[in-house]
Amino acid sequence: MAQLKYKRVLLKISGEALAGDKHFGFDFDVVSKVCDVIKKCTDMGVQMGVVIGGGNFWRGVKNGEGYIERTRADHMGMLATAMNCMAVADVLEQKGVDVRVQTALEIKEVAEPYIRARAIRHLEKGRVVLFGCGIGSPFFSTDTAAVLRAAEINADVILLAKNIDGVYNADPAKDANAIKYDAISYEDVLAQHLAVMDSTATSLSMDNHIPVLVFALKDPENIIRAVEGEKIGTIVGEN
Ligand code: UDP
Repeated sequence: MAQLKYKRVLLKISGEALAGDKHFGFDFDVVSKVCDVIKKCTDMGVQMGVVIGGGNFWRGVKNGEGYIERTRADHMGMLATAMNCMAVADVLEQKGVDVRVQTALEIKEVAEPYIRARAIRHLEKGRVVLFGCGIGSPFFSTDTAAVLRAAEINADVILLAKNIDGVYNADPAKDANAIKYDAISYEDVLAQHLAVMDSTATSLSMDNHIPVLVFALKDPENIIRAVEGEKIGTIVGEN
């Protein structure tokens, strides 16, 4: 069996990634492939906490601005993340993976409330824990939730699975000369305003010394490459 570089990880999947090319709702082919890989990782002995975004249904500012008061729009975004967790939990269960959903906003009839000690116990028992509703407060992102939960569960790394294969010095969609970094410091991400994640998430990972590996989810097997320590994407850390 391949050596594991990381034993406990926090995987962040954007909501939009779950929609595939449809950009809204679910592409169950994509969801299934991602769940297959999560299963493989747990079979390899990796403890998996997962934060899922909500952008495939609703983003507070992007979709609500000018129509819905910010706080309420963000509450809607957090509920969207809970729906994503429920869908992914169900597909994982269909594949025989033991999974728990914990939400930062209480929806007791459908998910456990977030309780750190309980989450860690689940991880130790080999269960995948899906963290829903971000951090439970408006004005934050699920990237920040990923960093917060990673800090709380003492994750070795944050695996930031994106629709781009790493961190670039410019937007590669707009600039053909954009260069990808293999590694970059938190300070440089902040100073250069690189859009890898929002500044709140970047500074929280910097303050808590949690490395963030940014890579493309397009090939979900990248998640396995990441936990085995293969050189993919860009590592954001104390470089
Ligand atoms: N959100 C929030 N607080 C949080 C996390 C998320 O208010 O702690 C809301 C916010 O409106 C955000 C939406 O939920 O736009 C969906 O999350 P995000 O945009 O991070 O999802 P992603 O882009 O990863 O799909």
